[in-house]
Amino acid sequence: MVPIENNLTRPTRAAGREDTAGWGWIRPAVQAGFLLFSILLGVEFGRFVSFLAQPAGVTEVSRPASVEAYLPISSLMSLTYLVKTGTAHRVHPAGLVIFCAVLISSITLRRGFCSWICPIGTLSEHLHKAGRRIFGRNPRLPVWPDRLLRLAKYTLLGFFLWAILPMPAEALKEFLDGPYNRMADVKMYLFFAEISATAAVVLVTFAALSLLIQNFWCRYLCPYGALLGLLARLSPLGVRRDPTRCNLCRRCDRTCPNRIQVSKTRFVASEECTACFSCVASCPIPQALRFCGPKGAPSIGAPVYAALLLLLILFVPRLFASLGYWESNTPLSVYKRLYATIHAIDHPRGPVRAQAPPAAPDTIEPPWSGRAP
Ligand code: SF4
Ligand code: SF4
Repeated sequence: MVPIENNLTRPTRAAGREDTAGWGWIRPAVQAGFLLFSILLGVEFGRFVSFLAQPAGVTEVSRPASVEAYLPISSLMSLTYLVKTGTAHRVHPAGLVIFCAVLISSITLRRGFCSWICPIGTLSEHLHKAGRRIFGRNPRLPVWPDRLLRLAKYTLLGFFLWAILPMPAEALKEFLDGPYNRMADVKMYLFFAEISATAAVVLVTFAALSLLIQNFWCRYLCPYGALLGLLARLSPLGVRRDPTRCNLCRRCDRTCPNRIQVSKTRFVASEECTACFSCVASCPIPQALRFCGPKGAPSIGAPVYAALLLLLILFVPRLFASLGYWESNTPLSVYKRLYATIHAIDHPRGPVRAQAPPAAPDTIEPPWSGRAP
């Protein structure tokens, strides 16, 4: 039973912050760390791409395998191939490992990847804060346009799943072995390094929309976030509200960056929840709002959550790297050879075999035929 004074008094803002007290810096710190890591990764990969253009004899620059984290479509195809054949493909192994670690993090810890790790999520959050400083407030779309727009990311996800999951193993292998997939990381780099006017206009438009509308890309368009949100539905963890303590002040609703009506639910099951802890930190009543497991489970504070998430995202890749499943099997000579025709390598349309360019090397090792370590 609620002590009646809980509903009548206005507790201090700090009163309910047991799970997050003093730890407000931890999520921005993790975000900043991954953003910095991404920038350094981009610089290092840029050095590798420059090296590919150099004549023979120039000191070799190694390729950072972690760049494959930015190839989720290729990783989804590798995962589908693994499930269908039991064989872990070797062209972008780091991408597959990181992709699986992120999926597992959503199934266990909800969609924290989006609000703690993803650099696009971090940039989106800062753009929105800058927008609020510039314009005074961020407009919110009315409910129905918001719901309709949110469908866009599920439509994109549905398209990718529809296109990839039914592919026969032979077609998957052909794509994964092909020159487009082997050079997908280089092509992605060049997309930004040699950005076209059209692409620049699209990116600037997204940035402008993110200034105006909170989490525009993540909320409406990101198919990766849509997939993680659906998987997060399986997680036993989440934000729980104790209605016997809650005074219905609705601070949690106002704080939630994803417009979830926390005060109207006992457990936040929404696939939009990114486990950002903002609602828990804003709640003025001790224990009214907790991030925890099933009823009765102890609270998981922001530091413990950060440790679990980092353990999963960092440890799983290190484990597979130590077992030898990390570096691509594409030899440097093949990278250099394909780079010479990089602008002629296009996404396969129709049967993959018909699109293989004449420059496709015959020296590529066959995909690793063992099972995933
Ligand atoms: S504020 Fe709470 S409900 Fe909203 S996304 Fe963050 S953790 Fe989830
Ligand atoms: S759960 Fe939400 S509505 Fe209830 S006291 Fe905490 S902030 Fe206020």
